[in-house]
Amino acid sequence: MRSTDTPIEYLKSIGPQRAEVLKSELGIYFFGQLLLHYPFRYVDRSTFQKVSEVDEEMPYVQLKGKIESLEIVGVKHTKRLVASFSDESGRIELVWFQGVNWMAKKLQTDTTYVVFGKVSNFKGRLNMAHPEVEEEATALKKSAFQAVYNSTEKLKLKGLDSEGLRKAMMYLFEQINPVDLPETQTAAVRARLGLLDRFTALKWVHFPESSVHADKAVFSIKFDELFYIQLRLLRLNKQRKLDVAGPVFSRVGPLFTDFYSSHLPFELTNAQKRVLRELRTDMGTGKQMNRLVQGDVGSGKTLVALMSMLLAADNGFQSCLMAPTEILAQQHFETFTNLLSKTGISVQLLTGSVKQKNRRPILETAASGQLQILIGTHALIEDSVVFKQLGLVVIDEQHRFGVAQRARLMEKGLLPPHMLIMTATPIPRTLAMTFYGDLDTSIIDELPPGRKPIKTFHYSETHRLRLNGFMKEQIELGRQVYIVYPLIKESEKMDFQDLQRGYDTIVNEFPPPRYQVSIVHGKLTPAQKDFEMQRFVRGETNIMVATTVIEVGVNVPNASVMVIESAERFGLSQLHQLRGRVGRGAEQSFCILMTGVKLSADSRLRMETMTRTNDGFEISEVDLKLRGPGDLEGTQQSGVVDLRLANLAQDGQILSLARQVAEEILDQDPLLQLPEHQPYAFQLEELNRQRRDWSRIG
Ligand code: ADP
Ligand code: MG
Repeated sequence: MRSTDTPIEYLKSIGPQRAEVLKSELGIYFFGQLLLHYPFRYVDRSTFQKVSEVDEEMPYVQLKGKIESLEIVGVKHTKRLVASFSDESGRIELVWFQGVNWMAKKLQTDTTYVVFGKVSNFKGRLNMAHPEVEEEATALKKSAFQAVYNSTEKLKLKGLDSEGLRKAMMYLFEQINPVDLPETQTAAVRARLGLLDRFTALKWVHFPESSVHADKAVFSIKFDELFYIQLRLLRLNKQRKLDVAGPVFSRVGPLFTDFYSSHLPFELTNAQKRVLRELRTDMGTGKQMNRLVQGDVGSGKTLVALMSMLLAADNGFQSCLMAPTEILAQQHFETFTNLLSKTGISVQLLTGSVKQKNRRPILETAASGQLQILIGTHALIEDSVVFKQLGLVVIDEQHRFGVAQRARLMEKGLLPPHMLIMTATPIPRTLAMTFYGDLDTSIIDELPPGRKPIKTFHYSETHRLRLNGFMKEQIELGRQVYIVYPLIKESEKMDFQDLQRGYDTIVNEFPPPRYQVSIVHGKLTPAQKDFEMQRFVRGETNIMVATTVIEVGVNVPNASVMVIESAERFGLSQLHQLRGRVGRGAEQSFCILMTGVKLSADSRLRMETMTRTNDGFEISEVDLKLRGPGDLEGTQQSGVVDLRLANLAQDGQILSLARQVAEEILDQDPLLQLPEHQPYAFQLEELNRQRRDWSRIG
């Protein structure tokens, strides 16, 4: 057995009881897992502060001086030991509430001590509670630069605070056999990038002699973490290209060219052309395509989808487009039938609300191969939907579809159909590389010409009258207005009241028959929702009061004003999505962010970001920085991505480097078969094994 697989109770200083807590609190069952419990920071104990300089803002301070007097004060639960400690610059109190008698005996006046701890402010006076105190001679023998570990209350009760964990870590290094920590990088890569060998990296991350050591170790470990995610994803991608045959769309036929030259209502943007070329190349190779198309709201993804579907039809294949909601599917269907009306291509719509008797002909033509394009919701993945010759699946707004659903669509072709996944949720590069890292990606980074950038304003309650006036002006000009209220699950009731009240106020301010107001929220049935939505789409109502149900994809070009109530309660990406509902026509559009007067620094930054830029990618980067990596849909340590030290919000550069190196290696050796690449093949296996074994127990 490898020493890294030794159960944690066998570690000196741990034993069965502490082992239980390590398991339940930190999920640490084996030596190898404790090794990966990295410090979250380091303290520098090579420098000392002066008593006169310290304050409670400092994370930790280290003082050198003498105890002038010692006194036990109070009784029972107020009993404490108070030491008056001084150096040449001043005096501060040290206080102990526990182990009072023992400490009182241990400490002596006239001895020079090194005192280490946190300063707090107690009723205007600075003191240090429970500092570490050591005689100068002992303290100076210790490593000057020390790791600090995360611990929990339960662990601390068992003596496993940061210090206790550090001790355990010391024993761990005595009991671990370096042979069980095989290299994670080839010597060549290490030399090129200045990475430490595996054992040194682990040793130094826990026991650095200086900040230089710590930095090198942290860099090496972060690099490895990010590198192996990339290596795994890119190998998956490569493997698929080697193994999985796909339909071959070898020719650009009459349907495509005829549409392009005669029916396209506008010139494609350069970005659309480029992405179409990328898709065409993929689909012509004979390998199955898995491509993600990212494009900001309004960048014209639908048209790209439509034209790739024409390509499928030109090559005798059927295709389908799956949208996350009925409304969206309906809209896509209308767009497709309009654009394709003169081409003779057959298009059908299949959603949950299509009646049984209307379903049959659709299903029949899909099965016979007569139907060329089918648009729908997840009704498409039902077993009753069978295609004769499915060649391309387009998934719109993919974040709503699970991988499993994708897989079911894949099975509907003889050969796995090409997959085109479109998302209007720009995500930061680092996240895209990580979560869609096995997909090829295309970016439509250009909006169709003539679009006027949406003007965004940040208002508070004091501007309410002005806002109402503005809305009236816009409605006078024939435009329509969205008003969106937050809806967050935990407080659904309260939010619903907010929405109702908001609606009542609006109807009061904008009374019928002069004005018509729609309301849409989660408590309506799909049919009611759709009815209200359609009234607004047809322009029969001027104002749409809604919760975030309208967030995704809805296209009403005549709507030019988006008012977001309690905007501080929305995340940046959601605000951006909502704003994307306007600015779809030729008119100048506006987005008004209504917030309270008092805002947290984060909220203020969100509002500033929104008013400053319309660029979804830029916004997503700010969003990531603000939310930090802990909040990435709980994904930091989800098994998909096991990051302990690296951080997707901060380590973008290391990530890019890691991906680049992984790419180089796989370009040279896609299956990792070269002898010098054995460490990589081995580690990937090993990571799989650990994920399997360790997760079975945990
Ligand atoms: P999204 O990328 O958000 O799905 P859509 O595909 O719905 O965007 O396109 C938004 C609008 O832009 C649609 O009304 C569409 O007809 C229009 N559009 C798409 N491509 C172009 C283009 N090249 N030139 C002008 N308008 C375009
Ligand atoms: Mg769209």
